[in-house]
Amino acid sequence: DVLPSEGIDFASLLLSQPVQDGLLASGFHKPSPIQLKAIPLGRCGLDLIVQAKSGTGKTCVFATIALDSLITENMTTQVLVLAPTREIAVQIHSVVMAIGSALEGLECHVFIGGTPVSQDKTRLKKCHIAVGSPGRIKQLIELGFLSTASIRLFVLDEADKLLEEGSFQDQINWIYSSLPANKQMLALSATYPESMAQHLTRYMREPTFVRLNPTDPGLIGLKQYYRVVKSHHLPHKIFEEKVQQLFELFSKIPFNQALVFSNLHSRAQHLADILTAKGLPAVCISGGLSQDQRLEAMSKLKQYQCRVLISTDLTSRGIDADKVNLVINLDVPKDWETYMHRIGRAGRFGTHGLAVTYCCHGEEENKMMAIAQKCSLSLSSLPDPIPPGLM
Ligand code: ADP
Ligand code: MG
Repeated sequence: DVLPSEGIDFASLLLSQPVQDGLLASGFHKPSPIQLKAIPLGRCGLDLIVQAKSGTGKTCVFATIALDSLITENMTTQVLVLAPTREIAVQIHSVVMAIGSALEGLECHVFIGGTPVSQDKTRLKKCHIAVGSPGRIKQLIELGFLSTASIRLFVLDEADKLLEEGSFQDQINWIYSSLPANKQMLALSATYPESMAQHLTRYMREPTFVRLNPTDPGLIGLKQYYRVVKSHHLPHKIFEEKVQQLFELFSKIPFNQALVFSNLHSRAQHLADILTAKGLPAVCISGGLSQDQRLEAMSKLKQYQCRVLISTDLTSRGIDADKVNLVINLDVPKDWETYMHRIGRAGRFGTHGLAVTYCCHGEEENKMMAIAQKCSLSLSSLPDPIPPGLM
């Protein structure tokens, strides 16, 4: 994904000459795909949520946007970049200095804990771009050393880490409130977890999403889990194991309606029978059914005559059920597109849902991890036992 895009070089992005020179001096000749997508949008002044796997060149995205519009003649702090660790902050600083090497008088500094605040005060007298950790930056604003009045670009690098539950949220809220209302904001991250989504909607009014592997924006409210089960040689043993886990989930989660995907047609009807026998009305929709029977199963779901619909991929396409808030993969789907398609049946934009994938220890588990990586998913292991407030 860092491979440069064919035929397009940085010159065609019409960046200022010093920035173009700096990019070349840094050995950056052609923009990576995420740079090609995000830099032009960022230069238009839009608030961006840039999501792309690590190593795709996101630092250069915001460094270029920041430097291109910087007015070096004004000795004010115009750009504030927050990073979750000192190492990342230092790394950002060196990228900014490299791409900005042709900008005369450029001042970019790092502000992190563990160094004397008095030194920071001196460096802040001449600082166009401040890069730092939330704690130290907040402290410097509080002390009046860092003036926020001229900041017009606010960057959260590794926003998924910065806005993780219980991390820097309070400090970042505080910093955000101290910034001028009229500013541009960029958030860059490898994943798009729900906690980050919630925060960013408070910070940004109409953010533009820039993604490399666009995942359905409908998945924002969906929590995704996987559960590893014991592997067996006998397929029916695996099935039994997974069904047992499924019962635990159904008993602990106050779901509305659920969709269960099974890779095997033969299992789907069997599972529907087991669930119904246990008092959970379930219908199955599989390739073996006629069109009429499929429609009947769908209408049962829609009219709330069943709680659970069991499906195989063959029949999943037409499923549109807005009450479904739990999607279960009894087996790991064959590829990431299928995974995204399946879980996209729950948790439409803004609504909350849960997706749980069961995988056997070993090969199937590896397959799940490969899908998660491919889609930049924030996937966690389903807590054992399942806590009551999970949904
Ligand atoms: P991310 O923040 O997405 O994880 P980085 O910004 O750290 O990625 O960049 C990853 C690597 O790719 C760095 O070593 C960087 O120097 C290199 N890189 C980024 N953009 C380009 C480019 N346009 N051409 C060549 N190398 C690049
Ligand atoms: Mg990065």
